[in-house]
Amino acid sequence: MTLNPYLSTTMKFCSNCGSDSITLSIPAGDNRHRFVCPSCEIIHYQNPNIVAGCLPVWEDKVLLCRRAIEPRHGYWNVPSGYLENGESVEDGAMREVWEEAEAKVEIDYLISLYNLEKINQIYLQFVGHLVDGKFGIGVESSECALFTEKTIPWEEMAFTSSVFMLKRYFENRKAGKKILHRASYPTI
Ligand SMILES: [Zn+2]
Repeated sequence: MTLNPYLSTTMKFCSNCGSDSITLSIPAGDNRHRFVCPSCEIIHYQNPNIVAGCLPVWEDKVLLCRRAIEPRHGYWNVPSGYLENGESVEDGAMREVWEEAEAKVEIDYLISLYNLEKINQIYLQFVGHLVDGKFGIGVESSECALFTEKTIPWEEMAFTSSVFMLKRYFENRKAGKKILHRASYPTI
């Protein structure tokens, strides 16, 4: 039996009861190793994180943010971030645009489902449009700016997920379509 290589390698304490005797075992009826607490019998499931994002469009330009945080500090990105509990993917994407660019967007369509299964992340990115053309610089950004396809700093993009969705966006726009594209890392 091989362990899921993407499982965290250690869990020192049970977050439910505080016991330090966590075991790695296959629960009855399951087929994967899980962290199990023998003390309170809770199973600590670990599942992928959703990253929600939205590309804000204004006329023929798109809004990108230069990251002021790690990872990829100083590189440009489409506003994106981890979905919070109790939040729809759409609301999470709009929140990220506000947090990173102080801009209000309306969601247009879902353009990208991008799997990073080896680090347990799934990106869901939308195309949206700026409500009033206004934007600022959010606390997680050092700079926010509108770019045409030709002026995008393609060599300074933070993540393949955003390069993938930007390329698909301009393809969709030229074709007059709103197609959802799917890929896995490292496709761009
Ligand atoms: Zn426990």
